[in-house]
Amino acid sequence: LKTEKLKSYYIFEMQEEKKEVKAVNDVSISIREDEIYGIAGESGCGKSTFLKTICGLAEPPLRIVDGKIYYEVEGKEIDITKMSQEEYRKLRWQFISYIPQGSMSALNPIIRIKESFKDFVTSHKKIKDEEKEFEEPLKKHLTALGLPLRVLKSYPHQLSGGMRQRTTIALATILNPRIIVADEPTTALDVVAQRAVIQLLKDIQKIQKNTIILVTHDMAVHANITDRMGIMYAGMFVEEGETDEIFENPLHPYTKFLIGSLPKMGDKSYKVSAPGSPPSLANLPQGCPFHPRCPYAMEICKKERPQLVEISDGHKSACFLNSKERVEDARK
Ligand code: SF4
Ligand code: MG
Repeated sequence: LKTEKLKSYYIFEMQEEKKEVKAVNDVSISIREDEIYGIAGESGCGKSTFLKTICGLAEPPLRIVDGKIYYEVEGKEIDITKMSQEEYRKLRWQFISYIPQGSMSALNPIIRIKESFKDFVTSHKKIKDEEKEFEEPLKKHLTALGLPLRVLKSYPHQLSGGMRQRTTIALATILNPRIIVADEPTTALDVVAQRAVIQLLKDIQKIQKNTIILVTHDMAVHANITDRMGIMYAGMFVEEGETDEIFENPLHPYTKFLIGSLPKMGDKSYKVSAPGSPPSLANLPQGCPFHPRCPYAMEICKKERPQLVEISDGHKSACFLNSKERVEDARK
C-alpha cells in the first residue's frame, strides 16, 4: 500500500464561510507486504482520519483533496482514489479489513456471535454448502487464533472486553484480507487483555502473511509488535523507520517526547518536556507544526516547513535539526 502526497481534509461550508481541517496533510508513505506497520502520535494528530482515508472510507465532510492511494492487487498497482464506489466495494473486506476504534459495536449485540459471523461471511460470498464453506473454516479459524469455540454460542455482552475485541478481530480477518487496519485495538483493555490482543494480531500475521497497519498512541504497544512505524503530528508524518531504530535512535524532537513519556526505570532526567498539546488542525502554525512546543526550535522553524527526508538507511525525519550534515557533525 502506498500513498503519494495524500491530503484529506474535513471541509465545512457554512454560508459564506469555508472551514478546512487538514487532518491528513501531504503524506507519502509506502507500507510493505508482510509487515506490521505502526502509526503513533497523540490524539488529534490525524491517525484515525489517515486510516479511514486509506481504507476508502472518506465520507463528507471528509474529502480527499489531493494525492493518490495505491493498492497492489495481483501484482498491479491500483489507485483507489480513481475507483467508483461500486468497484471499490468489491475490493473491500476481501482485500482490506478495517477494525474501527471502539469496535465493540462491530458485533451485533442482539444476536449470537455465530450469527454475526454468518451474516458477515454470507454478505461477502455465496455459500452453497454451509458445513464445508462456513462451519468448518470458521472453527478452523477460531482454533488457529486460540479462541474457544464457546464464543460462538454467546452474545457479545456475555464476553469480557478483551474476548470481545479478539472475536471482532477474528471476524474481520476470516476472509483472509491482504491488509488489516486496526485503530487503537488495545485501548480501554487491561494489560492482560492487551497482551492477548497483541498476540492475536501477531498470530494472524504469521498465519495469513498479510500487512497489518496498527494505530495506537501507546508507544509500548509499538515497541512490542510493529516492524516499522511512522510518527504522525498535525496531519503529517514527522518520522518513519524500523521500530527498533526509532526507539534506539529517535531523530525528531516529537518522537523523543513520545518515547520520553514512557516510564523509564530509575531515570527521571530522561523526560523531555513538550508542554501543551497538538495544534488545531483547522489552524496550523506556519513553518514546522511542532515549533510552538519544541525545545530546540530555531528561527527557520517558524518560517519553513521541514520535509520528511531520509537521514540514514530507511530512517526518515522531518526536522531541520536532522538534515544530513547536522547528523554527520554530531556523530564526529
Ligand atoms: Fe523543532 Fe525545528 Fe525540528 Fe520542528 S524543525 S521539530 S521546531 S527543531
Ligand atoms: Mg483516533
